[in-house]
Amino acid sequence: MKKPTIAISWNSSCGGCDESIIDIEERILDIAQKVEFVFWPCAMDFKYSDIKNLPDADIAVSLINGAIQNSDQERTVKLLREKSKIIVAFGSCACFGGIPSLANLTTSAKIFVQSFFKSPTVHNEEDIVPLSECTEGHYSLTLPEIHKTVSTLDMVIEVDYYLPGCPPTAKMVAGVIERILDGDLPEKGNVLAPEKVLCASCNRNATKPDNIKINEIKRIHEVIADPELCFLAQGILCLGPATRDGCDYPCIKGNMPCTGCMGPVTGADQGAKMIGTLGGILCAENEKETESLLSSLVDPAGAFYRYSTGASLLGRKREEG
Ligand code: SF4
Ligand code: SF4
Repeated sequence: MKKPTIAISWNSSCGGCDESIIDIEERILDIAQKVEFVFWPCAMDFKYSDIKNLPDADIAVSLINGAIQNSDQERTVKLLREKSKIIVAFGSCACFGGIPSLANLTTSAKIFVQSFFKSPTVHNEEDIVPLSECTEGHYSLTLPEIHKTVSTLDMVIEVDYYLPGCPPTAKMVAGVIERILDGDLPEKGNVLAPEKVLCASCNRNATKPDNIKINEIKRIHEVIADPELCFLAQGILCLGPATRDGCDYPCIKGNMPCTGCMGPVTGADQGAKMIGTLGGILCAENEKETESLLSSLVDPAGAFYRYSTGASLLGRKREEG
């Protein structure tokens, strides 16, 4: 009998999602016996044509990681949609835009100037910038076109399930692949992670007072954090109240506050939720104190939307002109 087939695709992301599949360790051998990988360019030499030649809906499931930022990624994910029964937005970049979507806070023109001219490690005496098309002798060369906006996967194709995390833990990945193979899946459109915030299961929740009041926002490198006490109660920014549960809070166990990589719970805007939480606990007597409090919050957009700018209320900075 033909084994179910899996495709794994990598778009704008760091590669951590592919790494977390490898981190399944020996369980990947059990999975490999039950499935056939038909596309996994990070691990083996697959080509676009390998997928193009398959009948429609032939692939049992495609795990697609990364935000969509160029024409080549768009073309590949649209093809995978045609050829797959199930599409999983795999990791926070595919689900919410992730760190690559912080690019939406500036313009693509400015990113090009920074990357090819201003970056301290760039030496570009001839002012060369990549072109999407150029001719060299008899040859015409093309590169993918960069999109003006970084998109989440579901802005480009229909997505069946979402598996957030930066990256999703190996335990989450193994669990989801096994659920898919067993046909044990919820209704399409669901997130394959708990529908509650991280604070609900965090082992420091019991130390979080009902009424926290803080008059300073500290960054983790500025203090020696108490290893037992809720970070927010220590005045350290922790995104637990605005972040989906399901990661087993490895950062908190390592005495680092949550930066929000699981993204928001369904229907919430992560930054707005966190700003609402802070609004209830920041304590300032007058305008001057309020200003000093807010100035202690460095890079608010990056702090509140580090992994979810692409799907956030912030939208996209418009190109000049
Ligand atoms: S704010 Fe952070 S440390 Fe405090 S309970 Fe929530 S996740 Fe845990
Ligand atoms: S504790 Fe927060 S930042 Fe760390 S893995 Fe979990 S969701 Fe991500």
